[in-house]
Amino acid sequence: MTPRNESERWHERAQSSIPGGVSSPVRAFSAVGGTPMYMKSGAGSRVTDIDGNSYVDFIGSWGPMIMGHAHPEVVHRVTEVAADSSSFGAPHQHEVLLAEEIIRRVAPVERVRFVSSGTEAVMTALRLARAATGRNLIVKFAGCYHGHMDSLLVQAGSGVATLAMANSPGVPPGHVEDTIVVPYNDPVALRHVFDEHSDRIAAVITESSAANMGVVPPTTEFADALFHLAGKHGALVILDEVMTGFRVSSAGWWGLVDGPAGRVPDLLTFGKVIGGGFPLAAVGGRKDVMELLAPTGPVYQAGTLSGNPVASIAGLTTLQLCQRDVYDHLDSYAHQAGEIVSEALTKEGVAHRLQRAGNLFSVFFTADEVHNFDDSKAQDTKAFARFFHSLLDHGVSIPPSAFEAWFVSAAHNQDDLQILSDALVPAARAAAGH
Ligand SMILES: *Cc1c(COP(=O)(O)O)cnc(C)c1O
Repeated sequence: MTPRNESERWHERAQSSIPGGVSSPVRAFSAVGGTPMYMKSGAGSRVTDIDGNSYVDFIGSWGPMIMGHAHPEVVHRVTEVAADSSSFGAPHQHEVLLAEEIIRRVAPVERVRFVSSGTEAVMTALRLARAATGRNLIVKFAGCYHGHMDSLLVQAGSGVATLAMANSPGVPPGHVEDTIVVPYNDPVALRHVFDEHSDRIAAVITESSAANMGVVPPTTEFADALFHLAGKHGALVILDEVMTGFRVSSAGWWGLVDGPAGRVPDLLTFGKVIGGGFPLAAVGGRKDVMELLAPTGPVYQAGTLSGNPVASIAGLTTLQLCQRDVYDHLDSYAHQAGEIVSEALTKEGVAHRLQRAGNLFSVFFTADEVHNFDDSKAQDTKAFARFFHSLLDHGVSIPPSAFEAWFVSAAHNQDDLQILSDALVPAARAAAGH
């Protein structure tokens, strides 16, 4: 490792043009201290900063780079499409093919509307749910993140948790008064909310498996109660698969767990993987609800760059590459990586919990199992910060927050695992405070 002088110089410079020098707060090192790396290039599982340091990347742009950085096929198709113009503001074939691919993979999705970010997808899903039911209340779970829209920025997991803000200034009280926050994995609390508000609840929104307070899969009892109560009281279920969609299986968490268990959501939101590294997200679901959208229905929703051709081809190519062999690799790789991390921490006597949701995993610096946001917040974030920096100094880049999942890609290989394994020796010691 060379000193990150150039990154420091640029980060200093960025402070006078961009708040905190970052375009999204999770990229700042607020929770762990220090200066974020300014990135120059990536190839496969590795990224290189402007000081020339190379890292094994377990961030993967927070999910989209499931095939690894600069995958030759993605780069090829993207360049080809961009050469024919990157935007028309008119329909084109790639968005149709992408919509068809999503519908083919995820059975509850009969129609898809493309937008540019997960936040926008969720915003559209809520508007649709309210229009479809004629009701206002939205139930969300503490620690679940659904983007930065006003009404859901209450107890919203990683970003805000990392910055220790319960809510955000600038969100008028009126914007959250139709949001009910319930503890995650607590079917009894959810039942009480439905008993009390029954016919006023438009939708329950949940991360299909929570992964923005660290990885906290739903218990079967909780998932069953959620779908059952919503169905019984005429509320829609919105499964937010922005992180898990097309990552934890070819049909996301729904394909892995909810589908086989017979749980059917009304609407789903997607992002991250479906843009293949470009700004693209989507809301999908039941035909009758989706066709409430303009122009087939009265619910207004629009976007100048929605379904952008370059983003669509990047997403389509990525999904076409994400076949069985890729998911098998992600599963086994994430399993091995998680085991290696846990073994290293155990060896140094560091209290921790390894939790998984398919091939997403995270390591909590706490002795007890994590079922909800309160459990997650009980972590030793100082131990995490020492662990994080030690890994970074030894060529391994993980999300700079104790509340995030690790992301593996199709390109991660045994050499990367060896680098991780070697880096974990000092990192576990650092976490232990030796
Ligand atoms: C990342 C994420 C979002 C927000 O997506 P953006 O594209 O960042 O707006 C919403 N929901 C979940 C579950 C996410 O992980």
